[in-house]
Amino acid sequence: METVPSTSFAKPAPGFYGNLSEDQNAKLQELKSVVIGIVPDPASAPKNARVYDEPMLTRFLRARSWDVNAALNMIKADVAWRKANKVDTILDEYYALFPRAKEISTYWPSVLHGSDKRGMVMYCERIAQVDPKSVFANVNRENLVSFHIWIMENGEKAIREGARKVGMGCDYGIVMIEDLTGLGWRHMHTGALNALKECLGIDTQYYPESLAGLYVINAPPIFSLFWKILKPFMDPNTVKKMGIFGCNDWRDGLKDVIDINSLPEGMGGKCVCKQDEASGKCLPVGGVFGAGVIDENAPVKVSVSARSHLEIEVVVNSSGSAIVWEFATDGYDIGFAVLHKREDKKSEVHSYSRVNAHPEPAQGRLLVETEGTYLLHFDNSFSTFRKKTVTYRVFVEEPGEIGAKAEELGLEKIVKEESPGKESEEERANKRNSGSVNQIEESSGAERKEEAEKEEGKKKKKKKRSSKRISSAADESV
Ligand SMILES: [Zn+2]
Repeated sequence: METVPSTSFAKPAPGFYGNLSEDQNAKLQELKSVVIGIVPDPASAPKNARVYDEPMLTRFLRARSWDVNAALNMIKADVAWRKANKVDTILDEYYALFPRAKEISTYWPSVLHGSDKRGMVMYCERIAQVDPKSVFANVNRENLVSFHIWIMENGEKAIREGARKVGMGCDYGIVMIEDLTGLGWRHMHTGALNALKECLGIDTQYYPESLAGLYVINAPPIFSLFWKILKPFMDPNTVKKMGIFGCNDWRDGLKDVIDINSLPEGMGGKCVCKQDEASGKCLPVGGVFGAGVIDENAPVKVSVSARSHLEIEVVVNSSGSAIVWEFATDGYDIGFAVLHKREDKKSEVHSYSRVNAHPEPAQGRLLVETEGTYLLHFDNSFSTFRKKTVTYRVFVEEPGEIGAKAEELGLEKIVKEESPGKESEEERANKRNSGSVNQIEESSGAERKEEAEKEEGKKKKKKKRSSKRISSAADESV
């Protein structure tokens, strides 16, 4: 382990923002002038978007050994990746976008916790308390990678907030303490290792200079095998900042860097705070994922910000299946449509309308002719200030079982009133008579209820106007 650069807010090390040589400063100014127009305008960016200010540009420059062109290319790739993966809004939308996100974050033994002796934000993790088999039985790799990006963005946010407090830029990283107690053969899991490699690649490419130190503690002998596999995927600069300790030497090795007592109790410290937002604990415990009672059909509560929308992904594996949904709002109407997603294109398959899903929830079923990815689209772009809370559940009925699951789950409106896939002349007439549903205003009046119910009985009617409206809302939110 090399010496970690002794940088802090108060005293940046050479090459860090606030302590640049003349040459480094000239390169920073050059990069600053060429990124204009390439990076998003902070004035119109989401509140947790990455800000490419001087301290951030310094991180990119340092990651590319002060080569302005190389740093610029890295930034271009970063901007594109963040846009494609909606990284700038992941902190606001994470729980809504990924069905089991809340469970993962409640389970995963990691927490942003206090700071080291220099004042750097600390991230504590006990990754060997994760049981890969149970995680992979429940969560796919894409969701795990998204969880990692969410953690990284939480870290970046903590860096920004810490820096803002002392009136400085965000050019310093996080100190990570990785406790490997419990690491064993069960962790030699191909899926887990592949996901880990992918995450390490993301960190190297898109989170330059984000670690001020990485200390592995309680590393058992088997760690050397893992290290051989993972080291090639790590940023060499990060490897230089690592310290690897066994179970007997880490306290002594880290006593000048951190206050050992301030670590979570489970990691050998004395802290029993409850600050981890997801779990309400100092540090989530881990163990076997999904060991508790998990009801896959339990309703999920999400919020849709004002001037925004939210899309819930539904994967249909066989043609002729039906998507069944139920949702309720907290007192105001919400725009709703079902879209079919093909590569980058989205087409409306259940037409857009504004639904008063209160006081009774709206329910619906849609027969789909092709398998693939569908999106429940909840739209609140028309509301200037009011955030909406939506409680929803959605599931797929396979061909041959249509109707059974809705009945089992008590979606009585669908069971009684709808014959799957068929739309009677009467229903079509009702729909026409109900007027332009897009004009339903925010109201909780009972007279709206009937209208909303009629509305809910609707199926597959294409409207060019509303489909345009959705795509423009989608563009705005990117
Ligand atoms: Zn604590």
